[in-house]
Amino acid sequence: MKWKMTRKEALYYREENGKIRCSLCPHNCLIREGHRGACNVREANKDDDGLLKLYSLNYGEVTSIAIDPIEKKPLYQFYPGSKILSVGSFGCNFKCSFCQNYSISQYRAESKYISPEEMAEMSLNIKDNIGLAFTYNEPSIWFEYVLDVAKTIKSIDKNHKIVLVSNGYISEEPLKELLPYIDALNIDLKGDDSYYRRLCFGSIEEVKRTIKIANDYEKHIEVTTLLLPKENTDDETLLEIAKFLSSIDKSIPLHVSRYFPRYKMEEPPTPLEEMRKSYKLLKKYLDNIYLGNLSEEEYKYCVEG
Ligand code: SF4
Repeated sequence: MKWKMTRKEALYYREENGKIRCSLCPHNCLIREGHRGACNVREANKDDDGLLKLYSLNYGEVTSIAIDPIEKKPLYQFYPGSKILSVGSFGCNFKCSFCQNYSISQYRAESKYISPEEMAEMSLNIKDNIGLAFTYNEPSIWFEYVLDVAKTIKSIDKNHKIVLVSNGYISEEPLKELLPYIDALNIDLKGDDSYYRRLCFGSIEEVKRTIKIANDYEKHIEVTTLLLPKENTDDETLLEIAKFLSSIDKSIPLHVSRYFPRYKMEEPPTPLEEMRKSYKLLKKYLDNIYLGNLSEEEYKYCVEG
């Protein structure tokens, strides 16, 4: 199927034996002419001069836009109580079977083109808006657009905040190109390496590297872990997450979210007992644990019970 949409030449690729090697994320896809990489939003095609190039298919294509409380990203220690314009496109370089946003991450959802200049202007002109968050789908595979918008905004107002809500699966070089324009990130740290390989079509080391590099660049970081029963609620996996984060900075906020059935995953929601047990274990290693997707009463039970 051919999608009709804006076509923008991608960054981070090279020609390799008549194919295209994309190096934006650690998948490093080798793509034949007329085909797309694993994210489904980067396609190899000839330009008007017959040269094989890689094109971003989601550049400027916005599927969702809203003004959200910053806590919804979730970022709890970055301008608490403020609002942030939040935008997303379609596509993802992971294939998580429990994806909470699968209608835009795994499918070509309906979109509207908004140029980087229009997006920057919109964000800068909204009253009481602290900045722009790239969220809903994976921003790293929206790279060219995120970079262009962030650069435009920062050239006008350095204090307008740019936020990424990301799976952290991006190669080192593009990450380092983007980070100077970013103020805060929420990065998923989903489980151990086997979890990433079995359920997400990814691997953990590159995600850890992204967290470390963002920390080296002195960005505000918060981390999210969705607790999936029988998959990442065992002590060993939780300890790996806790020890890794505490080795960087034990004050990094960790959001532990309760899973609910979505997409291809039909397992019942995470039992409250698992949430409670995980909270108690993680609390021994990290200063700021926040439980998510719980009612007030359930939260109290898990934290105080
Ligand atoms: S960004 Fe997309 S095309 Fe490029 S390596 Fe990653 S999955 Fe493959």
